[in-house]
Formats: sequence, structure tokens, C-alpha cells
Amino acid sequence: MTSLNETHNPALKSWVRSAHLSGCDFPIQNLPFAVFRHQGSAEAFRGGVAIGDQILDLAAVAQTGVFKGAAAAAVQAGAQDKLNALMAMGHVAWSALRLALSRALREGAAEQAALQACLVPQAEAQFDVPARIGDYTDFYTSVHHATNIGRLFRPDNPLLPNYKWVPIGYHGRASSIGISGQQFRRPVGQTLPPGATEPTLGPSKRLDIELELGIFIGSGNALGEAIDITQAEDHVFGICLLNDWSARDIQGWEYQPLGPFLSKSFASTLSPWVVMLEALAPYRVPFTRPVEDPQPMAYLDSAANRSGGAFDIQLKVGLLTPQMRAAGQADASICRTSYRHAYWTVAQMVTHHTVNGCNLQPGDLFGSGTLSGPTLDQAAALIELTAGGKNPMALPNGEQRTWLEDGDSVVLRGWCEKTGAARIGFGECVGTVLPARVPRV
Ligand code: CA
Repeated sequence: MTSLNETHNPALKSWVRSAHLSGCDFPIQNLPFAVFRHQGSAEAFRGGVAIGDQILDLAAVAQTGVFKGAAAAAVQAGAQDKLNALMAMGHVAWSALRLALSRALREGAAEQAALQACLVPQAEAQFDVPARIGDYTDFYTSVHHATNIGRLFRPDNPLLPNYKWVPIGYHGRASSIGISGQQFRRPVGQTLPPGATEPTLGPSKRLDIELELGIFIGSGNALGEAIDITQAEDHVFGICLLNDWSARDIQGWEYQPLGPFLSKSFASTLSPWVVMLEALAPYRVPFTRPVEDPQPMAYLDSAANRSGGAFDIQLKVGLLTPQMRAAGQADASICRTSYRHAYWTVAQMVTHHTVNGCNLQPGDLFGSGTLSGPTLDQAAALIELTAGGKNPMALPNGEQRTWLEDGDSVVLRGWCEKTGAARIGFGECVGTVLPARVPRV
């Protein structure tokens, strides 16, 4: 588990002045990674690190030769078009690079002159999915979400008995994961209309969001080996925002007995910036389990996981309708919650995923599951916010929404803040719904 070190010192300032403007997501204490190139160019994508409103171009940094040793090797790996090579190097290399970047970007650093020439404004950048994602596993770690969803189907028995013992997950689809700015067609699929005895094929009428965090695996494990919970976090490169869009009507018809399929695989959207677990160290909080609940089995329990295995990441969902966009209005907030409410931690997800010997690989992605908190205003999907579609939401401009409509954009935001630590942010994850393709019936 990463502990506090000099890179977290809230008094640190960068020679990149914009890094310390109030509300900036990317101060020198953050230093998240993305892959990018100049918008509209044919340049190769390469790794970059956010500092203020700029990107430190790792391919350009590699050319300067200003970093030495382990940090130089990590910069070389990070200069590629995906971050898999950097992710595969492991937590000692990531930490060496973070320390070298922190020192070189500080006020008064000797490296300033060389690195100044390696900055690209974020406003001029086009981002890409940060890794070649071999496998995407979606968990279900919010007991509040699981209970709210379960109640819609089983009012008397909302939570299935395995939930409090097993970190529930399923294998998702990696090919349709896109980066913030993603626009996707409303999915077409089979649904069973209310009262009907036979399904029809058509555009989903119950298109939903899922506010999640994406967890990128760094170094993997050999097939047949398990990752002990005391080492689990060493295998995690970092965390980003994830919108795991869902077609609830398609899901309702297809999900039994094998689970969701086409209701999930049409699109998932990531934020460009991956915040290293090390950057999140000031925001660790204890993992707690109500005394009346089963305590985690021994393989899912450790002293470090109990004392600081959870993270207090603030999360918000905004909805921007075509009418708001035309009027020049900002998106309307529809959910505000925190990752601290999750029932299972990142370390528990990694350990459980590998307990059967399943091998994780660099660049694999976990979804946290929809991160609903304990109250309705913390519900992180429309199916909960509207009670299964029964109670439309009123938006500030007078419009109503039950499910997403064509042209709607959804904006996820995340950040961490507290007294005595620098505020760090995740940037934004934006996705937009386009009209459905007309199906052949
Ligand atoms: Ca999900």
C-alpha cells in the first residue's frame, strides 16, 4: 500500500503556473497519465502527464534525456502509443517516475528549461483509450446499487445471499470501450414490451448510465497463481472515470440465465486521465463492514485493507440535453456521491479475481460497478433515480427525463479534497447518445 511521501506535500508548487489555480484538477501532487496527440494531426499517439492545463509529452521528454535510471526507463515505456509497457513495469518503476516528475516540475527545478519545450496545451489535444485493454471485468461493488436494483425485481428480498460474501462481477466487452467525447448510436436489440408475449427488435427505450470508476491493472500474474491481498494494490496502475452505459429493456429480456450481454456491450466511456493509486494515498479511508454483516473471508482481509483500503473519491454526474446545449446552459447535476461507500475495495477485487488462478494482464480494466451511495440523491443510474422509470426527474430548465434521449450528453466528474492535502481531480468523462440505426425487421 502506498503511503504519503514528498510527492504529496500540499505546499509543493510547479513552475507550470496553471497547476495551482483554484479548482484545477491537475496540480503537481496529481500527475495522472493519458495517451494523446495534437487534435486533427496524423501524429502518433504517445503518453503524457497532466500538469495544470498542459500535458508533459513523454515522447518529447524521452528525447531530452533529462531523466536517469529507473525514471528514464519508465519515460521510454510511457512514450509509446499505449501505456501497457509502462503498466507492465510495476509499481517500483511507476513510483520512481512519479518522484522524478514531481522534482522536475517543481518551482526552481533545473529541468524546467528542457521540459518547458515538452508541454502541449490540453485544449489542443486529442486523447485515446490509454491501454490496449485485453479484458474488461465489470464488478458490482455498491451494496446500495445492488439493493436498489434488487428491490425493483424482488421487493421482499432485494439482496441475494451471495452478495455479502463474493465480490460479484462478470466479463464485459473491451472492443467498444471509447474515450471521453465518445458518441455512440442508441443500441438496437430484442426487448419484451410490457404485457407482450413475444419480443420485438428495435431501439432501446430505456437507455441508462452507470457512474463507475475504471481500475487499470498494471503488472499481471501468471496463470494458475493467485494475488495475495497484501500484494494486490501493487498490481494496480491507477483509476479513471467510467460510464458503463446500459440498455435496461434489452437487459431485462436477455440477462437470465447467463447475465448481461448486448445490453452492455455497445459502448463504455473512459476519462482520458488515469490517476495513479500513489496519488490517491492522502484520500485513503478505512474499509468498514457493518457488524451485523458477514466479515470478509480471510483471503479478502488484511490489516492494510481494513485501515486504508477504501478511497474517498467525490463523484458527480451531469446531464446536458440538446435544449440546454442550444441555450448555452451548463449540464445539470443529477447525482453526487463518493467511492467510499463501496462494499468491496480495489484490493479485494484483484484478490478475488485471481483466487481461482485467473491471470490478469497489463492494461486489463475493472469496472467498480455503479457507485450509488446510501441515499436517493447519491443513486448513480437513472433506473434508481427514477424508481425503474416510474418517477421522471425534473431538470432545472423545466425538461423531464426518465431515460436518456437522443442527443443527451452525460458528464462524469471526480475529485478528492480535504484539509491538509492538495485537491486532485480526474477531469471529465463525456459521452453522447446518437439516434439508433434503423434495424431490418
Ligand atoms: Ca456496470
